[in-house]
Amino acid sequence: MLRLAEKMSRLGTETAFDVLARADVLARGGQDIINLGIGQPDFKTPEHIVEAAVKALHDGHHGYTPSPGIPQLRESVAQDLVKRRGAKVSADRIVIVPGGKVTMFFAILMFGEPGAEILYPNPGFPIYQSVIEFTGAKAVPIRLLEENDFSFDADTILGQITENTRLLILNSPANPTGGAVPRAEMDRLVSGLTEKHPNVAILSDEIYSRITYDDREHVSLLSYPELDDRLILLDGWSKTYAMTGWRMGYAVWPEALVEGATRLAVNCHSCVNSAAQYAGIAALEGPQDAVDGMVSAFDERRRVIVAGLNSLPGVSCRTPIGAFYVFPNIRKTGLTARVLQDRLLEEVGVATVAGTSFGALGEGYIRFSYANSVENIEIALDRAAELLRAV
Ligand code: PLP
Repeated sequence: MLRLAEKMSRLGTETAFDVLARADVLARGGQDIINLGIGQPDFKTPEHIVEAAVKALHDGHHGYTPSPGIPQLRESVAQDLVKRRGAKVSADRIVIVPGGKVTMFFAILMFGEPGAEILYPNPGFPIYQSVIEFTGAKAVPIRLLEENDFSFDADTILGQITENTRLLILNSPANPTGGAVPRAEMDRLVSGLTEKHPNVAILSDEIYSRITYDDREHVSLLSYPELDDRLILLDGWSKTYAMTGWRMGYAVWPEALVEGATRLAVNCHSCVNSAAQYAGIAALEGPQDAVDGMVSAFDERRRVIVAGLNSLPGVSCRTPIGAFYVFPNIRKTGLTARVLQDRLLEEVGVATVAGTSFGALGEGYIRFSYANSVENIEIALDRAAELLRAV
C-alpha cells in the first residue's frame, strides 16, 4: 500500500477538463457535441507569432534559458505594461512561467501554510481554493453576488481580513462570471488595504485584462503604485493571443519576492520553452489587430448568448463585462447546476460547466463559454430550450 502525503487528499481539480474529456468521448462515439465548456479562444494563434517560434527553432534556440525568462522577453513585457497599463515596471520584476496558473501556484505556495488564511473569490477559478487547501492554509471565500454583477464589495473584503490573513486573491475580469470590478470599488479596497492592512499580499489575476466590452476600462492593480511592494500581478498570453497550449504566462512580482519566485521556477520547470518565449515577444510587439478582432467577435457572441439565455424557461442571465463567459442563474429550472450540466451534455450534446465547479457559492448557476461560433451558440441555445421545455 503506497502512503501518499496527506495534503494530496486536499488537492482539488478543474472540472472543466473533466467535461472536456467526457465531451471528447461522446464526440468520438459519434454524438454531435457543441463545446461551450472549455475556457479557451476558438481562434488560431496569429500567424506572425507562430512564425516567430518557427524562426527561433531554426535559429537554434533549443537550450535552457535563464529561469525567469530571456531578458528580451522580460523587457518586452515591461514595455507592454508601460504602453497598455501606464505602469512603470522594471524588467527584473518580471518572471516568465509556463502559463498563468504557475504564478498562482507559486504565490499560494509562498504564503500558504497551516494557520495562514487566504481570501479568494467564490464563485471563482477553482485552482485558487484547491491550492490554498493543499498548502494547509484556510481558504476564506469572498462572496461574489449576482445582484452586484459579480463584482466585490470592498468593505466586505476588508472586514474579512484578520491578523492571520497573508494573501488576498482577486480576479477581474473574472472566470466564471465575466464580472469586472469598477474603479471606485477598487479605490476603496486599495485605500482600506493601505490604511489598515499593510502586511497582506495581493495576487491580482488579470489574465482577461485585454477582454472587456462596452468600452469598460480594465482596472489593473498595477495602477496603484502604493501596492508595488506586495502586489503579484498575474497575466499571460493564453487568452489574449489564443495561446492556451503554448503555456506562456508572466507575473510582476514585488522586488523582494522575485528571488523566491525564481527559486520556485528553478525547482519546478527550470525555464519556459525557449522558442515559445520568442513567440511571446512577437505577440507583444507585433500587430494587435488579431486581438481586437477576437474581442469584437466575442462581443457579438456575448450579445447573442445573453439574449438567448434570457429567453430560456427558468433561466436569467446578466450581461458580463469581460472575459468570454456567461454565468446565468438557473434556479427556476428546478434543477441543480450539476444535473443541468450533465443533462445538457448527455441528452442534447451541449458541454457547459456547473457553477459548483467554481465553489459552493456557484450552486444555482452554470457557466457557458462563448468562445464558439455564433452559429454553434444558436444551435446550443435551441437544444437547451428543447431540454428545458421538457423539464
Ligand atoms: N486565471 C484564470 C482566472 C483563468 O480562467 C485561467 C484559465 O482558464 C488561468 C488563470 C490560467 O491560464 P493559463 O492557461 O495561462 O495557465
